[in-house]
Amino acid sequence: MKIDLIAGARPNFMKIAPIIDAIKVAQIKGKNIEFRLVHTGQHYDKNMSGSFFEQLGIPLPDINLEAGKGTQAEQTAKIMMGYESLLQKESTDYCLVVGDVTSTMACSIVAKKINIKVIHVEGGIRSWDLTMPEEINRMVTDSITDYFFTTSETANENLLKNGIPKDRIFYVGNTMIDTLLKHSPNFIKPAIWDKVNLSEKNYIVMTLHRPANVDEEDILKELIDEVIQNSNNIPIIFSVHPRTAKQMVSLGISYPNLYTIEPLGYLEFNYLVERAKAVITDSGGITEETTVMNIPCMTLRDNTERPETIELGTNELLGVNPKAIGPAMKKLFSGKWKKGKVPHLWDGKTAGRIIHHLLHLS
Ligand code: UDP
Repeated sequence: MKIDLIAGARPNFMKIAPIIDAIKVAQIKGKNIEFRLVHTGQHYDKNMSGSFFEQLGIPLPDINLEAGKGTQAEQTAKIMMGYESLLQKESTDYCLVVGDVTSTMACSIVAKKINIKVIHVEGGIRSWDLTMPEEINRMVTDSITDYFFTTSETANENLLKNGIPKDRIFYVGNTMIDTLLKHSPNFIKPAIWDKVNLSEKNYIVMTLHRPANVDEEDILKELIDEVIQNSNNIPIIFSVHPRTAKQMVSLGISYPNLYTIEPLGYLEFNYLVERAKAVITDSGGITEETTVMNIPCMTLRDNTERPETIELGTNELLGVNPKAIGPAMKKLFSGKWKKGKVPHLWDGKTAGRIIHHLLHLS
């Protein structure tokens, strides 16, 4: 069995790493399974890509399609052309994609058109918000996926409602949490900790990169202003995604307790999250990690494709309305934030289940 593993952007690397580990375990046991790691080059610099390979022990990619910068369509086109020409030179039995980035959709289309079976890890989740590029990536990918590995009951229900037969859906848990649990003993104190004298539960971590929050400077400014005004003066550590960096520079915002930093390595970022008073974000993956680490999480979005982080976890949706930040921060500082429970099978063993199922596909 030959599988292409596709990874292209930051939130892919922590999902692919445990799958590679599990394939290696299967190989040691003499199972007939081989992989080729394809990096599409959607994210390409050290901050957003290279450091994850080093820290998570991911082997160097067998192939880099070097898609690089570009609009959604440019990146999609470059990835599709690169992957198609790779498959023409040397084909594979399965194409395994993770998550919801441009690379996920682009490679699954290429593979499916030449009759290679598509496996989607984290299939079936839906925000139903078609203004998000990720939702389009999810819908297109799932419409041509052969085997779905899911993180939640809701994902299963979404797929069943779409007419996907039960025997192609496997609820296995969350590979992102495999990575979190494996690496949590090795989290690394980032330089910012000593630089601004941080102390446990006395600062907030923030990340923002969704178009609805960061593409318009006025909205971004209002969000940050509200966070600062309601912060009780504790440090706000803002890890600035490259998508958000340009606006931050032209806004020129400065507050005594706002610390803007470049994206951190995985081990440094989660060191900060694990000790934070709370996280403010519009990321999907971070709502899962905060749920498992039991850290209050405020999500600046109107919807989520991960409802279990709200129903069971520590996440609360504030919407894209800056005025919702004040009341949420009051709740946080009065110690009334809900405690979370960990969703079923988010136990660090998901990738092993995926490989087990793959080896038993008929
Ligand atoms: N992350 C990181 N460094 C940072 C910010 C985030 O390592 O400075 C990690 C985070 O722990 C999570 C992932 O990046 O594993 C989330 O990626 P992102 O927010 O870009 O994508 P999304 O989850 O929204 O698709």
